[in-house]
Amino acid sequence: MALVWDLVEGREELKQTLRAAVDQGRLGHALLFTGSAGIGKRDLARGLGQILVCEQRTGCGECGPCCRLELGQSESWHEVESENGVIKIEQIRPLRERLSLANWNGARVVLIPAAEELNPQAANALLKSLEEPPEQTYFFLLTTHLSRILPTIRSRCQLIRVPTPLGKEGSTEANWGLDLNDSEAKELVQQNISWWTDVIRGARMPEDENWREVVKDRQGLQKCVQIWSHLIHRARRKAAGLEVPQGPDASLLEVLSSRALALDQTWMALLNLKSETEGQVDRLLAAECFWLGLRESWQ
Ligand SMILES: [Zn+2]
Repeated sequence: MALVWDLVEGREELKQTLRAAVDQGRLGHALLFTGSAGIGKRDLARGLGQILVCEQRTGCGECGPCCRLELGQSESWHEVESENGVIKIEQIRPLRERLSLANWNGARVVLIPAAEELNPQAANALLKSLEEPPEQTYFFLLTTHLSRILPTIRSRCQLIRVPTPLGKEGSTEANWGLDLNDSEAKELVQQNISWWTDVIRGARMPEDENWREVVKDRQGLQKCVQIWSHLIHRARRKAAGLEVPQGPDASLLEVLSSRALALDQTWMALLNLKSETEGQVDRLLAAECFWLGLRESWQ
C-alpha cells in the first residue's frame, strides 16, 4: 500500500506524471515545487520521497526504509527548515558533509520546505550540490514565492507547478462529504464518533441505542459508512504524518492513528460492509457484525 502517495488527493494528473518519471528513471535530481500556500506541496513531496527511498520503489509503507520514514527516523531523509524566516549556510554545510559520506545504499531525499528563505550564502552552498549531486540524492525545494528563488537555483531544478485543487477542498471536508445541511451533518458525525468511541473502548455495541434506527434505513447506513470512511481516511493521514484539518474527532483520531494494523483491519471491514450495503442485506445485522469486528481489531 503506497500510503502517503495514495493519500495525496486531487492531483491525479501530476501524480501520474511524477510516477512515470520515477518508473522511467527520468526524475530530475532537483525538483522545485511551486504553488500557493497550504495546497499540499509538502504532502506531495513526502509521498514522492517515500517512493524513492522505498525498497520496492512503491512507497509500500511496509519495508524498513518506509517504516523508518514514517516514524521520522529515516537516515535517507533530510529536512532543512528555516529558522526565524531564514536558512543560513551553517545549515547547509553539515548537510553537504553528511551527503558526501560514501557507502550509502539507496536513495536520499533533501526537503527544503521554504526554499525562498535560503540566504545568498546558503543558496550558493546548495548550488554546488545541485550541480554535482551525490549519487541517488534528490533535492526537493518547495516555495510559494517562485520569484524569490535565485535564478541560478531555479535553472538547475525541474519546475513542478502544483495546481490549486479543483473545487473547494474545505467544503466536503467540513460536512464530511455528506449531502446534508450543516447542523444535521454535524449531529450525525457527532453521534457516529461517540458510537465508535464506545466500541473501541470495548463495548459490544454503542451505548446509544439510536444507531439501530439510523442503520435500519438504507440511506442512514450509507451515510454512516460515508462518515466511517472519512474517519479512517483522516486517521490514515494522521498516521502518515500528513496534515489533518481540525474536526470533532480529535481524541478518537489519536487512538485510531496509533495502531496501523488495527486501522488497516478496520478499513478492510468497512470496504466489505460498503459492498454489502450495495446489495440486499439485513442492515442491522451487517452493522452489528461491523461493531463486533471493530471491537476485536482494537482490543
Ligand atoms: Zn517501502
